[in-house]
Amino acid sequence: MKSILIALFFITPFCFYAQTDSEIIKTIYDNSLSNGNSYFWLDHLSNNIGSRLSGSENAEKAVSYTKTELEKLNLDKVWLQPVMVPKWVRGNPETAYFINGKDKTKVNICALGGSIATPEKGIEASVIEVSSIEQLKALGREKILNKIVFFNRPMDETFINTFKSYGGAVGQRYAGAMEAGKLGAKGVIVRSMNLRIDSFPHTGSMTYGDLPIDQRIPSAAISTKDANLLSKNLKQNNNTQFYFKQNCKQYDDVQSYNVIGEITGSEFPNEYIVVGGHLDSWDIGDGSHDDGAGIVQSMEVLRLIKLLGIKPKRTIRAVMFMNEENGLRGGKKYAEMAKQNSENHIFALESDSGGFTPRGFSFDCNDDQFNRILKWKDLFNPYLVHYFEKGGSGADIGPLKNDQIVLSGLRPDSQRYFDYHHTAIDTFDAVNKRELELGAAAMTSLIYLVDKYGIYSIGENQLNKD
Ligand SMILES: [Zn+2]
Repeated sequence: MKSILIALFFITPFCFYAQTDSEIIKTIYDNSLSNGNSYFWLDHLSNNIGSRLSGSENAEKAVSYTKTELEKLNLDKVWLQPVMVPKWVRGNPETAYFINGKDKTKVNICALGGSIATPEKGIEASVIEVSSIEQLKALGREKILNKIVFFNRPMDETFINTFKSYGGAVGQRYAGAMEAGKLGAKGVIVRSMNLRIDSFPHTGSMTYGDLPIDQRIPSAAISTKDANLLSKNLKQNNNTQFYFKQNCKQYDDVQSYNVIGEITGSEFPNEYIVVGGHLDSWDIGDGSHDDGAGIVQSMEVLRLIKLLGIKPKRTIRAVMFMNEENGLRGGKKYAEMAKQNSENHIFALESDSGGFTPRGFSFDCNDDQFNRILKWKDLFNPYLVHYFEKGGSGADIGPLKNDQIVLSGLRPDSQRYFDYHHTAIDTFDAVNKRELELGAAAMTSLIYLVDKYGIYSIGENQLNKD
């Protein structure tokens, strides 16, 4: 009897005491930091599987691994959503050097994703340095014909948000070969999207648009250190020649999948909340920050919700999107199917900015929705998550955009992200366990609040939804 009374003393308050939001968020953080699973999953994804370019064998291994791990969480549903994806293969390591008189200087390059190969013996030509597509166009065909165009605009170092610096420089990588091809250039070399001066070339997507095949030219990224070296050489000798060789290839599209895990809502099952990242990565490095981190954090959101016995009112899905890097096919397919199935998506959160210390969230929504969200901001103060601003979200969830949905992005500290982004050093050792777990906890906390309170715009008929 005495032991029963003692047991009741301990159990009763727990049963009848409704925890506050700040207490629940504290429990979420405690569990993510002391008993989290995100780092363990990332270890497997990065070290046992490795790089996961769309259409590769590793990408399919990652599909099956994450599906199996989601199945272990005892969710309501786990399934694969078929999607056709591009398959581009880098082939042999690239070679490049510049020639100044009798001196040959080897430089580090890597083919941009989607680029064509050079002829088998490579390309050699004189180099013309430009800082923008506008400058290229102003030079015109006469100056560009048969040259290798060297796009060398650095990322702006003065922005605190380095994604802004990236946004201001990445156009030359994406469209440089298309524009230079139109003017008869032989090839394109682009300064890597990196604020640091180092020896690692950064790959990334590029396009030929609808350029005829005979005007398409190979393009590659050069490391920032070698870009500076080449630029310095050109200033001394504008007849510097550049040589590069790459044998990448585009194959036919192949079948792949988005991986989806779901906890079905108890009150409003047709109101969907998505949390996700992208399962594919570039082929160099193992994509630990981009975007293994976002994948395992999204899985951790569902795991923590289950672990803490939270019963969501709305349906919460973790989506591992396929093919963000070179096609966004997974994001487009998910939105297409959501529309086809008349699923009412009210909120989507993406983590695709690295596994660094979370600073907050950006929200793509209207002012009424944003004012509602701002009321939750104080709950995040103890965790140094202060950044709640309107802005972008994530590429994969972008296709879900409509007038009603709120799109959101986890915003980690961005100072080191572009040291690793799309390089051979985006590997597991570059991710800090606690920083990763803090991100997962911040995401889970936000998802918990969105589920509990809903997220309707003021003035809308809320039908007692919350
Ligand atoms: Zn990414």
